[in-house]
Amino acid sequence: MPEGPEIWKAADKIAKVVVGKQCEVMFAFESLKQFEGELSGQTVVSLKARGKALLTQFQNGLSIYSHNQLYGRWYVHLNERVVATNRQLRLRLKTPTHTAALYSASHIEVLDEQGIESHAFLRKLGPDVVDADTRLRQVLCQFRNPSFQKRRLQSLLLDQHFLSGLGNYLRSEILFSAKLHPLLRPMDLTTSQEKKLAQECLRLPRQSYLHQGVTNNLERAKELKRNGFKRYEYRHFVFSREGQACFECDTPIERFEIGGRRIYVCTVCQPQQRQK
Ligand SMILES: [Zn+2]
Repeated sequence: MPEGPEIWKAADKIAKVVVGKQCEVMFAFESLKQFEGELSGQTVVSLKARGKALLTQFQNGLSIYSHNQLYGRWYVHLNERVVATNRQLRLRLKTPTHTAALYSASHIEVLDEQGIESHAFLRKLGPDVVDADTRLRQVLCQFRNPSFQKRRLQSLLLDQHFLSGLGNYLRSEILFSAKLHPLLRPMDLTTSQEKKLAQECLRLPRQSYLHQGVTNNLERAKELKRNGFKRYEYRHFVFSREGQACFECDTPIERFEIGGRRIYVCTVCQPQQRQK
């Protein structure tokens, strides 16, 4: 499953061709056909990722909510190009020059502002870690929320109700960067550990978004690349580096499985004992 930085990259690609443009809108689902007339000819005001969904907002206040789930896929191309695919077309946004079309996804809705606020999925999402509008204090608030305080970081960081946009590689990388063991809970952390963790929850996803998925120290990654190391060798601090030496202390990185998902830890840099 793609994580926040990858979802935002995909959203940017679509936004680049539709935002600020008047679109002709086509829905494949019969129940949505009624909105084609209302949306066509309207300018797209914004297109943003919300968790793993996209919200395309139009000038008249309506938004298209689309969730790719496992199979959905967007194609963005010049109008004259024909896409060769066996997938089912679900939604098409066509500007005078470009087409952005969503195939295979089955979850598409049209919402007004109130509909967005009361939406079952959107309402429960935690602050989005890639969204530049998300502030550190919002993340700190989540850590201090009593319903999250006693949860282990290893599961909390994957919970989209806690923070949205984090996934498996970011979980390992953030915990390493904050020097925290996955079994710790927010209630175990000192104020400075909590602050550092909250900072990393925003810093690393944004770095990954801006630097092609690299979460390792950027200077170190550049140096390794210059010395002939491959992307998978310099991209991350610990993720997918089982048995290899920690970049900071030389200890072999360990891999664990929690609920069928991999997590990578340097047990020296990320001690398990609580400091509080
Ligand atoms: Zn280490």
